[in-house]
Amino acid sequence: MQLALPHRAEAWLFGADCRRRAGLRRTLVASVVYWLAAAGQWWAAHIGLADPVGAEWLILCLAPGLFGFYLLVRSGIGLGSADPALSLPQMVYAIGVLAAAYLINPPLRGMVLMLVALMLVFAAFTLSARQSRAVGWLAVAVLGGAMLAGARSAPQVFDPTIERIHFAFAAVVLPVVSLLAGELSAMRTRLRAQKAELQDALARIRMLATRDDLTGLHNRRHMEELALAEHRRALRSGSGPCLCLVDIDHFKRINDRHGHAAGDEVLRRFAQHAAAAMRDTDLLARWGGEEFLAMLPGTTPQEARQGFERLRRVLASADAWGGQAQLRVSFSAGLTAWRPDEPLRDALARADRALYAAKAGGRDRLVEL
Ligand code: GH3
Ligand code: MG
Ligand code: MG
Repeated sequence: MQLALPHRAEAWLFGADCRRRAGLRRTLVASVVYWLAAAGQWWAAHIGLADPVGAEWLILCLAPGLFGFYLLVRSGIGLGSADPALSLPQMVYAIGVLAAAYLINPPLRGMVLMLVALMLVFAAFTLSARQSRAVGWLAVAVLGGAMLAGARSAPQVFDPTIERIHFAFAAVVLPVVSLLAGELSAMRTRLRAQKAELQDALARIRMLATRDDLTGLHNRRHMEELALAEHRRALRSGSGPCLCLVDIDHFKRINDRHGHAAGDEVLRRFAQHAAAAMRDTDLLARWGGEEFLAMLPGTTPQEARQGFERLRRVLASADAWGGQAQLRVSFSAGLTAWRPDEPLRDALARADRALYAAKAGGRDRLVEL
């Protein structure tokens, strides 16, 4: 309960959309920086380091940064666009604010230049490589304009020689910073794509390792692992699952009469019908060829028997085989209750004997041992 509050606060601050969360978090951090900048600007004017009227204007112009961008991103206005966190407008706005700060704080303008470089580093995390480079050149142009305006209108405070040096410094450093930030951004994009590819490959490998190709059911190896996990649970609870070996009757004949591809289709459809007839907690695997193993936790043999009777009725309809009325597919099954104190091998051997008895008894039936 104590932990619930920060989670709720986080959901309130950043919303439920995880795509927007990182952008919102960055915007909120930027807002804090703008608040600090506003306080710093007020202080600089107070101690006479900045032009007081200009400082008032700048603090006014900081309003979008103080809370406007956060509210805009939080409102979801950019959702659906390529830039849901409005990173590019935020960057352009920051360049404008910093150029104004450069003019309003003549003694502190060297510091402002450093802040521009620092801001461009953030482009690596928010902008594409191309946008990052463009923003770098924009910063050079806008700052250059500010330097020119300062040198022309107030040469006594913006010494033209110093401004020329500042401009040369900005024209070299800022594009290099934004170029490196762009490289970093491109690297991040590549890494993200590689991560997605790896995740896909991992999901596929996991599927290949645990699923049967033809039917999509659990494969034998994975079913053995699942059975052992179930056995451990059964040891604790004191009651084991039912195991049922199911084998399609005269499957060789289906292959011989209708072809191997039709046989494959029968296996696929049989698997679908069997899986649909079972509960969510039941497990079904292709145990080999035309043989399946069902594991039914928390089920009595009587309930299991009823389930397989339902499956038998479903299989009897022509619909079950895609309208091929000439296909008659039945199955034999060997059912047993897996006692918690016995190994899987023994329970399976008993189910196999039951299956053999079902076959020997004329097929199309379930025998319980
Ligand atoms: P029974 O009623 O005694 O089980 O007879 P059956 O014909 O079903 O059993 P048998 O073991 O004689 O034959 C099983 C056949 O299943 C032989 C094999 O070629 C075929 N089979 C095994 N795996 C596949 C498969 O993936 N696809 C197809 N189409 N046939 C398969
Ligand atoms: Mg068979
Ligand atoms: Mg068989």
